[in-house]
Amino acid sequence: MKRLVPVQFGGREGECGTLAPLYLRLGSSLPPGDIGFPFPMEGSLKPMDAEQLREYGHRMVDFIADYYKSIESFPVLSQVKPGYLAELLPESAPNDPESLQDVFDDILQKIIPGITHWQSPDYFAYFPSNSSTAGFLGEMLSAGFNIVGFSWVTSPAATELEVIVLDWLAKMLKLPNQFLSTGKGGGVIQGTASEAILVVLLAARDKILRNVGKKSLEKLVVYASDQTHSALQKGCQIAGIFPENLRVLKTDLTSSYALSLEVVSEAISSDLSAGLIPFFICATVGTTSSAAVDPISELGKIAKAFNMWFHIDAAYAGSACICPEYRHYIDGVEEADSFGMNAHKWFLTNFDCSVLWVQDRSDLIQSLSTNPEYLKNKASQENAVVDFKDWQIPLGRRFRSLKLWLVLRLYGVANLQSYIRNHIRLAEQFEQLITSDSRFEVVAPRTFSLVCFRLIPPPNDQDNGYKLNHSLLDSVNSSGKIFLSHTVFLAGVAGAGYYSSEGLLGSQVIFASLNPIDIKPIHYFLVNIWSVSMLFKEYELLVLI
Ligand code: PLP
Repeated sequence: MKRLVPVQFGGREGECGTLAPLYLRLGSSLPPGDIGFPFPMEGSLKPMDAEQLREYGHRMVDFIADYYKSIESFPVLSQVKPGYLAELLPESAPNDPESLQDVFDDILQKIIPGITHWQSPDYFAYFPSNSSTAGFLGEMLSAGFNIVGFSWVTSPAATELEVIVLDWLAKMLKLPNQFLSTGKGGGVIQGTASEAILVVLLAARDKILRNVGKKSLEKLVVYASDQTHSALQKGCQIAGIFPENLRVLKTDLTSSYALSLEVVSEAISSDLSAGLIPFFICATVGTTSSAAVDPISELGKIAKAFNMWFHIDAAYAGSACICPEYRHYIDGVEEADSFGMNAHKWFLTNFDCSVLWVQDRSDLIQSLSTNPEYLKNKASQENAVVDFKDWQIPLGRRFRSLKLWLVLRLYGVANLQSYIRNHIRLAEQFEQLITSDSRFEVVAPRTFSLVCFRLIPPPNDQDNGYKLNHSLLDSVNSSGKIFLSHTVFLAGVAGAGYYSSEGLLGSQVIFASLNPIDIKPIHYFLVNIWSVSMLFKEYELLVLI
């Protein structure tokens, strides 16, 4: 009687177990004619031929270097319409190979028009996503090795370099020793701050549920401010936190848009009296709308008093804390269970590189580890190593620490500090320009390199300047000369519909001038902020009405 064993791909009928999959993995060393592959072997295709890589790689580096040389000649915000690319590219992939030159031509003619140039000196939108030669080289090297370092054994250097580099960075930030790998904690590189928030939320959720029982999920409550990044809301959705249990607490100008301790304490007390279980506070150092800083120390104490997990999201402003004069913004970090910062924002490390430290790595590991047979190995079984697969959502992971390592080595701490200081100095200058122009006002205190400003609306303006500023923003952005983003402060002490454009003076040196662009019918003009990437050239503020 035939055994009912599924036929493996490429194997003989009935031949299952371990042999056929193993042959599949070995690929070209299969005995000829033994197992028929339904696809041709490599033949003339040599995907990683070293000499072709050298030739093409050099050409690609030249292409990218030329792009950087001419980056200011492109409209910084892409001006294409949705669906533009489908009209330019064929409907299906080419059957036969094309030349690299053909690809370059298409990049120039079809792709670049659809690029918003994040690395342009004219780019002031969102938070910066700085690249650098060091970060770029690290990316190249990572692509070159192309390892998938989920466990230590899959590339010991990848895990060990990550541990070392994150300890270096923790020391630069003067994080308490508990966050170092030598203690119970340690750092890990996630793809994004959103993933960092999600993994600590999962760890915190499981930790509390181990105490109060799994059935209490519906009672768990999360606290944050109305300025907290929406990544927290998304994390709560994924983690199964009941939507009505996410407390988005109001902030206003009186606290510079930082979380108020009274508001947090009241919310916690009221939830406790309702029989709910407060378990997670997310504080932000450098909020997305105005770079506000929540009171870390005090929030940490509240969290501790109620046995809650305390996470600090310093995605943008964490980088500034490598400078001694800005370190005080994270005073109290010793109270935090976890602390995250995006090195891919303001730390010259090419996207993606979001750094997360935890005080107790076992919390993450208990939530996120799995141990299937095919991943078992001696080093892991003996608990002798870190397996970062257990500190993150996916299994596979890139060798991202290389780029951070190169940034730290090729620039050094002192240069990185002056880079940050320079941006903040430039933001101060821009703030002064805005303040000295009677048509504009700064709408939220400037702390780092983010300046929030708006055109002052005429008295009794119906929507408090909303339409006015929107049309200014549209004019600025559709000019292709600079790219600004915006935000809205909702009604509060600051007044209804308070609106501001936020210009991010992140990656480049900034100077400001004003050029006239008619935005009828109101007699205001385009703010054309442009940067001169290296120099303190003369600059002017022309008031043209
Ligand atoms: N937290 C803060 C304070 C942010 O400013 C941002 C993005 O700008 C995020 C989280 C989300 O970042 P990511 O894209 O890395 O998930």
